[in-house]
Amino acid sequence: MVKDKIPEILLSGNAENMLRASALLWKTEDIFNLWTEAYAMYEHRQDIRCMAAYHLGYQYRNGKGVRLDKSKALEYFIHAAENVGIYQVYAMRIVGEMYRTGEGVEVNIPAAMHWLRQAAGHGNLAAQIELDELYAENTQLEISDDKQSISAHEEKYISSGSVLIFDNPIEHLAYILSESKNTVFFGGAGMSTESGLPDFRSADGLYNQATQFRMSPQQIVSHSYFMEHTREFYEFFRCHQLYPDAMPNAGHYALARLEKAGKLNAVITQNIDGLHQIAGSQNVYELHGSVHGNYCLSCGEKYGLDYVLEHTCVPLCRKCGGIVRPDIVLYGENLNFDVMGKALEAIQSADALLIGGTSLSVSPAADMIDHFKGKHLVVINQTATAADNRAELVMRTHVGETLSRVVEKIITSDSVAK
Ligand code: ZN
Repeated sequence: MVKDKIPEILLSGNAENMLRASALLWKTEDIFNLWTEAYAMYEHRQDIRCMAAYHLGYQYRNGKGVRLDKSKALEYFIHAAENVGIYQVYAMRIVGEMYRTGEGVEVNIPAAMHWLRQAAGHGNLAAQIELDELYAENTQLEISDDKQSISAHEEKYISSGSVLIFDNPIEHLAYILSESKNTVFFGGAGMSTESGLPDFRSADGLYNQATQFRMSPQQIVSHSYFMEHTREFYEFFRCHQLYPDAMPNAGHYALARLEKAGKLNAVITQNIDGLHQIAGSQNVYELHGSVHGNYCLSCGEKYGLDYVLEHTCVPLCRKCGGIVRPDIVLYGENLNFDVMGKALEAIQSADALLIGGTSLSVSPAADMIDHFKGKHLVVINQTATAADNRAELVMRTHVGETLSRVVEKIITSDSVAK
């Protein structure tokens, strides 16, 4: 569907649409082709060139959609770092890192220093940390004037230099929330585990468990399996993905309260359980759909979760007898273009982005974080995430409990102030 529109999108020269298309493509080969063409086609457009080069660098570096080639990766990252665009600073840091560690190139400390300094100069915290380490390892190097030592690397609390005035992360987060005019929350499975739902992707999560099914859960919760083995799909779906009795936890309620107080613009979630809405959140973008939405494949008639629960087998349409399916994104299916677009807009216009209960390992949703251009990036997750080194504040804690503590603090102190 998106794939058919690619030539059109490419010809339009609209960088933003290319990025969306890339996020919606399922096969890494397709993503590779899209950016290869864009890179060749737009020699004089810095923004597209930067974007394309960054993606190609990433794919060559990780062997995604193309054979792994570190020196090609470095070449592309250098192109990205030399062209003005939203990935330029990230590319600078990566080039610095590759020179520093000798990835795809001989170790070259002056080159590493040059690129890391460029990135740090643009406010990239990870680059600044790497620079600090480089200086520490190479004490003979002269410390330049622009270098300012930063960073408290405590196990649970990492904060950037400019805001070290806070004694603890809760206070820091409370400050960000009260200062920000446009805050967006981006959440994942960790948000629901505190409501007793299993995390599909964590180490002991559902997808690693042996089930009575002979196939892996990924294979079962896929488009092709649904179409060919609808009955088995529903057996699995009922046992492992429907939790009609699950209730929102303190974190869901905290976010709803925050929205009501005018301090939260949107919730973007990868979860399909609908718990945010049950807690009272209004502006929710469900990237992977929701088990509460169901529709007939033949006539489009809509049904709630109750209808599916009433049936013991495959739910059939009351009107036409067609198969009713859940409105969730199955493996092998694209995300909803509209929801994705609105979520991206929310991220792009936010000045604070809170990432909670997700390791950001699931593509393409996780790539959306790269669109954030605002001031405060906060990560609340028990394990490391791909966004940690860009974040102003990283908290290795339970997301629900943390949100509830911080919201309690702001809303109370606000009302006291009044
Ligand atoms: Zn029907």
